Amino acid sequence: MNNTPILTCVFCSLSYLPCKTHEDEQRVVLDHAKACPKHPLAQALSDAAKLRKALVLLVGVDGHDDLLVMGENLRQVVPDPNELLNLLYSVQVLIETLPAGA
Ligand SMILES: [Zn+2]
Repeated sequence: MNNTPILTCVFCSLSYLPCKTHEDEQRVVLDHAKACPKHPLAQALSDAAKLRKALVLLVGVDGHDDLLVMGENLRQVVPDPNELLNLLYSVQVLIETLPAGA
């Protein structure tokens, strides 16, 4: 009898053999969770990407340097403090959620 544990995704039932190291196994499990069509993490990542894209369209720019410039420009042209806070918060969220390497 083979006692090798088999990893199984509880959401889609995909089974795969464990890796040689715990770190490799964690990476494989996380990579699957990000791509699994039934895993809530994949859905959350997809939703976050859609919301970020919508916010980019609302603010009108993306990318770290362009967002910093937009933040400075907003302070000059938006007189309403509440509107300015909302816009600056949006710019800050976009900076904080920039995709890796952007
Ligand atoms: Zn799965």
